[in-house]
Amino acid sequence: MEVRVLPISSGSCGNCFFFQCGDTRFLIDAGVPVSSIHSALKAHQIPLQSLNAVFVTHDHNDHIAYLKDLLKMHPMAVWLSSRLSHLGEWLEEEEIYYFPFQPGQKLTFGDVWVYPLSLPHDAISTVGYIFQYRDVKLSYFTDLGVCLPSMLRAAEGSTLLVIEANHDEEKLVSGPYPEYLKKRIQSSRGHLSNRQCGEALVQILSNGREKMDVMLAHLSAVNNTPEMALSSVETILKKEGKREKVRLTFAPRGKPGNLWRLP
Ligand SMILES: [Zn+2]
Ligand SMILES: [Zn+2]
Repeated sequence: MEVRVLPISSGSCGNCFFFQCGDTRFLIDAGVPVSSIHSALKAHQIPLQSLNAVFVTHDHNDHIAYLKDLLKMHPMAVWLSSRLSHLGEWLEEEEIYYFPFQPGQKLTFGDVWVYPLSLPHDAISTVGYIFQYRDVKLSYFTDLGVCLPSMLRAAEGSTLLVIEANHDEEKLVSGPYPEYLKKRIQSSRGHLSNRQCGEALVQILSNGREKMDVMLAHLSAVNNTPEMALSSVETILKKEGKREKVRLTFAPRGKPGNLWRLP
């Protein structure tokens, strides 16, 4: 059965990814208007009404700004950390089915195994996700200040890994952001730099023999470019002899990227 992943938008301008595992279709986050989600899916003949669920990573606006609009238009199951109680209360009022989980719990959703992991980020509760469907493993980690060893281990053997490459460290330091914001981004509860992303990949790849598809995500518009992110990560991978193990792409900001698929 078909597995497809479509980056609909990624970055501080709004985050939303579409996943399909066989008959199960779901989104991660809803940080872009419903019209953008609708048109991105329509381009691949995927009706909005065919979505079964939305998985929430955390409650920053670039991830949930349009969640309520989306659910009003098309009610579907919502999976989220039990600590996001303000969202839970709203979902209860609206009588929308939701599944509050503890990060670290292993869950099932139809034919898909779901493993939400806590990520270090400055929100109430931030999670990354691993979805396992048959022999396909899809991992999704954005909005994290550092990579935890548990996360690196969990991501080993991914078929597709979506991972944050938020900023170039020098560009951030010399860039126009106010000092407090630079500090926030650099902190262990901020965002992953291109260098940190490359180093994480080296570790994730050190035990696996298989080739991995890697999609760089949540790129900053001010402190990064797709070219910088790709070349920094490539340089680190080359240095460690891991370049051949990775097919590298990136998720564009504010617009859909290419559909990733397995037959
Ligand atoms: Zn974000
Ligand atoms: Zn965030």
